[in-house]
Amino acid sequence: MNCWHCNRPAHGTCIFCGRAICRDHAQEMPHIVALFADRKGGHKAIVTARALFCGLCEPREDPIELPELR
Ligand SMILES: [Zn+2]
Ligand SMILES: [Zn+2]
Repeated sequence: MNCWHCNRPAHGTCIFCGRAICRDHAQEMPHIVALFADRKGGHKAIVTARALFCGLCEPREDPIELPELR
């Protein structure tokens, strides 16, 4: 697979959208691996601080509602 940006061999893929990216074009972005509620009812997230990011797919900070799935 080649880099989405420059078409050279890729070193990894964006964790958010799956685009392939080379080392020159890879960016880093915190990524939430899992969300869970603790015993006191608070919400916790397990986050990796430096996940691979393509720079294009714009992961959003806030969740969006999907009313059509109800
Ligand atoms: Zn590249
Ligand atoms: Zn991406």
